[in-house]
Amino acid sequence: LNRRLAGMGTTIFAEMSALATATGSINLGQGFPDTDGPRSIAQAAADAVLNGRGNQYPPGPGIPELRAAIAEHQQRRYGLAYDPDTEVLVTAGATEAIAAALLALLEPGDEVIAFEPFYDSYAACIAMAGAVRVPLTLRQPSFRPDLDELRSLITPRTRLLLLNTPHNPTGTVLNPDELSRIAELAVEHDLLVITDEVYEHLVFTGAHHPIAALPGMRERTVSISSAGKTFSFTGWKVGWVTAAPELVAAVRTAKQYLTYVSAGPFQYAVAEALRLPDSYFEDFRSDLRRKRDLLAEGLSAAGFGVFEPAGTYFITTDITPLGEKDGIEFCRSLPERCGVVAIPNVVFYDNTDAGRSLVRFTFCKKDEVLQEAVTRLRRL
Ligand code: PMP
Ligand code: GLN
Repeated sequence: LNRRLAGMGTTIFAEMSALATATGSINLGQGFPDTDGPRSIAQAAADAVLNGRGNQYPPGPGIPELRAAIAEHQQRRYGLAYDPDTEVLVTAGATEAIAAALLALLEPGDEVIAFEPFYDSYAACIAMAGAVRVPLTLRQPSFRPDLDELRSLITPRTRLLLLNTPHNPTGTVLNPDELSRIAELAVEHDLLVITDEVYEHLVFTGAHHPIAALPGMRERTVSISSAGKTFSFTGWKVGWVTAAPELVAAVRTAKQYLTYVSAGPFQYAVAEALRLPDSYFEDFRSDLRRKRDLLAEGLSAAGFGVFEPAGTYFITTDITPLGEKDGIEFCRSLPERCGVVAIPNVVFYDNTDAGRSLVRFTFCKKDEVLQEAVTRLRRL
């Protein structure tokens, strides 16, 4: 393993899911639902396979039906107009979109400012691009960015801001005021913005606002999303990028040599999914909001400090009230102590002191699973 990837051997999600399997624990670690998405969408994927749609290499940028559905979705939800032929790119999940965008847009030595805690692939991909990550720490209890601090982190070497809203793992959803202040800084310092919006439909308090819709931002923003969370098919790995033509062309160049194209049949199914009626998105959100409340109450009753998330399907907790200090030790011992798996937030920090006692639980699980997990955690 080269020096750029030193210390990044196995993702925390793989480690903790393996621990859950080995110990037969309830896995509230890695974020994936225990109930698949809509049957009609699964049927669309099966039909595509059996009817020979997408079984051979699909077009590099993604099948036209899906690119059109993505453009329609951006228009209908956010009033953002993108040309499906030149401004939309289908990727192998948001993960590939993040990697391709960073590899395509960064020069070695460029600085990237990202909110810490950051999703683990950000640090790895910035490193693979030979660039330097500069963390802006979201601090408890609000986990909101200090935008004066953001301004102070910008240097002549800063090339881009890497945003994530709704934010994994804290659940922070950037509000219009924060977004416009970030946009002003990007314009003033001529920065690119990559925004990871995979949880755009998982917002319980307030609303999701894409930064690309703000003045001066459309031409400098690469927006990334994915079907995994929104439609509860995380294994399909269909993601996408929307951006101005030059930016999409750059990301496409990198994507060509990473995966060449993305798997075909699921693209047909996701094109249908994006056109599901509004009621699908509303029901999905209210179901998850109920689950959030169920888990939040249970974790509070079990003695955790709970930071209620406005979005995503994660709850960040503080284990200090339980008399614990170290999230990694806590998560490694939790399966044996009570048969539950969680994720230590500290692995998403450079400034590890800020995250040492924080632990993340996911609530995208059946009610009875959440209830059983809470019963077990109350025995701690
Ligand atoms: N970004 C964030 C913030 C995530 O939590 C995840 C995890 N699902 C991804 C990107 C990756 O998404 P995908 O599965 O579509 O690659
Ligand atoms: N995004 C999910 C999480 O944060 C899963 C990520 C993964 O397995 N790479 O839990």
